[in-house]
Amino acid sequence: MALDDTRGKSLSFTPMVIEDTMRNGRGLSDQWADTVVVRPRTTERHITVHKRLVLAFAISILTLIIVTVIAVLLSVKFEECNADSTASASHGNLTKFNQSRDALFNHRGEDSFQPWRQLRLPGSLRPLQYDLHITVFMENFTFSGEVSIELQCRNSTKYVVLHADRLAVQKAVVYSEGKKTRALKIHRQFRYPANQVFVIAMHRELESQKNYKVNITFQAHIEDELLGFFRSSYVLYGEKRYLAVTQFSPTHARKAFPCLDEPIYKATFKISIKHESTYLSLSNMPIEASISEEDGWVTDYFSRTPRMSTYYLAWAVCNFTFKETVTDSGISIRLYARPDAIQRGSGDYALHIAKRLLGFYEDYFKVKYSLPKLDLLAVPKHPYAAMENWGLSVFVEQKILMDPGVSSISYLMDVTMVIVHEICHQWFGDLVTPVWWEDVWLKEGFAHFFEFLGADFLFPDWHMEKQRFLTDVLHEVMLLDGLASSHPISQEVLKATDIDRVFDWIAYKKGAALIRMLANVMGQPVFQMGLNDYLITHMYGNAGRDDLWNKFSEAMQKEGRDINIKEVMDLWTLQMGYPVVTITKNDSVDNSVTISQEHFIFDIKHSAPSNSSFQWQIPLTISVGNSSHISPESIIWVSNRSESHKIGSVDDGSWLLGNINQTGYFRVNYDLRNWRLLIEQLMRNPEVISVGNRAGLIDDVFNLARAGYLPQNIPLEIVRYLSQEKEFLPWHAASRVLYHLDKLLDRTEEYNIFSEYILKQVASMYHRLGWPTSAGNGSVAQATYQTEELRREVIMLACSFGSKHCHQQAITLISEWISSNKNRIPPNVRDIVYCTGVSLMDEDVWEFIWMKFHSSTAISEKKVLLEALTCSDNTFLLNRLLNLSLSSDLVPDQDVIDVIIHVGRNPHGRHLAWKNFREKWDILNTRYGEALFINSKLINGVTEFLNTKAELNELKDFIQTNGGGAAAAFARAVEIVEANVRWHSLFEEEFFQWLRKSPTS
Ligand SMILES: [Zn+2]
Repeated sequence: MALDDTRGKSLSFTPMVIEDTMRNGRGLSDQWADTVVVRPRTTERHITVHKRLVLAFAISILTLIIVTVIAVLLSVKFEECNADSTASASHGNLTKFNQSRDALFNHRGEDSFQPWRQLRLPGSLRPLQYDLHITVFMENFTFSGEVSIELQCRNSTKYVVLHADRLAVQKAVVYSEGKKTRALKIHRQFRYPANQVFVIAMHRELESQKNYKVNITFQAHIEDELLGFFRSSYVLYGEKRYLAVTQFSPTHARKAFPCLDEPIYKATFKISIKHESTYLSLSNMPIEASISEEDGWVTDYFSRTPRMSTYYLAWAVCNFTFKETVTDSGISIRLYARPDAIQRGSGDYALHIAKRLLGFYEDYFKVKYSLPKLDLLAVPKHPYAAMENWGLSVFVEQKILMDPGVSSISYLMDVTMVIVHEICHQWFGDLVTPVWWEDVWLKEGFAHFFEFLGADFLFPDWHMEKQRFLTDVLHEVMLLDGLASSHPISQEVLKATDIDRVFDWIAYKKGAALIRMLANVMGQPVFQMGLNDYLITHMYGNAGRDDLWNKFSEAMQKEGRDINIKEVMDLWTLQMGYPVVTITKNDSVDNSVTISQEHFIFDIKHSAPSNSSFQWQIPLTISVGNSSHISPESIIWVSNRSESHKIGSVDDGSWLLGNINQTGYFRVNYDLRNWRLLIEQLMRNPEVISVGNRAGLIDDVFNLARAGYLPQNIPLEIVRYLSQEKEFLPWHAASRVLYHLDKLLDRTEEYNIFSEYILKQVASMYHRLGWPTSAGNGSVAQATYQTEELRREVIMLACSFGSKHCHQQAITLISEWISSNKNRIPPNVRDIVYCTGVSLMDEDVWEFIWMKFHSSTAISEKKVLLEALTCSDNTFLLNRLLNLSLSSDLVPDQDVIDVIIHVGRNPHGRHLAWKNFREKWDILNTRYGEALFINSKLINGVTEFLNTKAELNELKDFIQTNGGGAAAAFARAVEIVEANVRWHSLFEEEFFQWLRKSPTS
């Protein structure tokens, strides 16, 4: 599953602001924290329930009277009857009676063990296969189903406990399988909504080692809420069309059919779907047979799946069209999308890379793709960026469709990574599945890590794993994981409603960062060998983290390296946070350094004492360098709080560098003398230090200073080397950390001293690189990625920090567009140009962009245009945009949240967005309350740059009265705003003092 990780690209700043870097981690990080809001029942269901209750009550009373009379007459001691003997009457009315009797009196005998009350399924029954038939009624958005589940009884039990949520079960029958199949007597059946289960209590125990079959018929709604089997719509040639599709991960298959909805219960599935013939249906497997009926209905019969879990089962009913390609090994890959998009060729890119990626993974894992086909389905609405259903992966349109010539490189990269991610899951997740959700990071961390390996395969020039991984994953997640409100990557979860919580950036990004660290320690061939062994051993089954660690340890042993991977990795996966390693030269002893570790935390003064016991086994790579040379790295395993080590030969002029190429998941600090030597080296000849380490030094130094581990002038001194920097990555790392500082300072009196200082560092590179020439007509992939991205980064910084030349260029480009009505602005800088234009030019430009937003059909372009509207300096326009977004359908639902967040990033709109957020919270909560991640994204997005005491108090007050539902997101918000406020009070003066005296300011 891919979360919506818009890769810090589109802008939302008036030309004072830098890049939208924090959006990824902060905005979305706590998407899953709140509790589930239960939908009100439909009126129809209300009435049915009501009637049934009345009827049941009347019958119960009547029965009670009759039985009491009989009992008194026969002098039977009624209360001694156990559940079994009273259940012998099989009439429905008596069952009802027994139910109410049970509820009243029963806490004895076998019912005292009530497996439905447990948060996990009892485990006495294991599903072997499901036959599932679904009939889909698109005209009233309902469906009916019949499921037949073959179960193996492992421990004798009286109860069949199945997950079922929001389904109206009509009939349940249990058969024993064997020589003579017969229906077994059911004692009673009931729902236990608290655990989303449906329970069939049998008259007699089901016997161990025997097989049974449960047949259930049911009905449900095709909801409008992006979970279970849901619907969405799109407009084609002016006509509204509907489609229905599933999203079962993590716990929503139970909303579509009764099942054992935990990943460990793998089974095979045979699905058939009946629908009107104007639609087509899709599922994990290919269609075996389609049978048309006379009345315009069709039933599609899909082949039986291999053993799999419920959460990546899928089906869809739509009237899309498709394009197809076939791999060398004969696997059919189809991309299904709305007909106009297919016709435009918007799916061609995805199809092309999907084919290549299937080959890449087959080679890397040395395990063939398991299914005969892979469909990629592009839907207009989806709760995540994409979902990896085996053989039928579902993507939100913006993450798979591409319009060449219009989409920017970053959009292309975004689409690419999401596709690489989902295809990786066909092995990691689908073929081998985590045992339970606490190890969700196993599948998500791997898929996220492989995004970078897969992208490197497709575009070797991008150097994704060596470079972009650092800024997009490592630096990003270290921000989050440095908060006291972070959590360990393996989180215990039991309740279904808490499971969404584990899909957060810690699982994805920290998971990927830890796997990358391990892969680098092991070396690629050994890592690959371990993975292959793991996949082969556990294919079509489940595995936990220890299974993987064992395979890795074995692979290492084969190479004669004896490292207990589990022992090392448990420290990283079961403890939250990460260490800062401090390397100090010992003056007294030659060539000796002291290496110490402590838990890095942004709030060092307030860090909880309990965390001081945190310790890790750290694979620290270290090199010694001087003005022209750096030594080969050596590895030191640091496991104590403080240790002394001998390092090659260290003279007075040489510096130490730790965490070579930033492969490790930790920060490195040095004594101040070493920092000065490193900065001198960067100023004189940066290339002695690797690109990854240059980016790493920038990120570490800014964050160490932000948290108070270093004086504030060190980061300001280090950015002076940027004029020498010719590579994209260090610039990107710099613009991310500067963006944060910019937001912290953009409403301070002395802001200009800061912006002028930064602009000075940027100016020479800006003038050297210049602007990209016209839009061209080739694919963006043709452009040399590194050069174009560097140019973009520098232009963005220049425009943000007030370069007159940059502003003029943007104004010229916009004016040309308006006068010619031909957009010749290069796609890669459109967001910068639009945003700058909107902020500097008059209201007409805002209106022009607003109009273009409505008339544009290219999905990537629409988003860029909308975000540009949030860049205005004019609070009247910002207010108008907020109102239009909140109270009309002119802005698509899924973009409303982005509008509010982006207005909040604009210093002229921050107050407005924050005010609107508080005033409209009820409306927003009603509108998005069920999509919890949207709520948390909003909360963290709107609050993350609040930085005054007054705003902090407003936030706390607001939480007091409104914060109940989203406690975790609000807790993080408070911690971040507190840190912002603290930075001002502790460090702002020191920061500006240095700037005022700085020679270049
Ligand atoms: Zn995923």
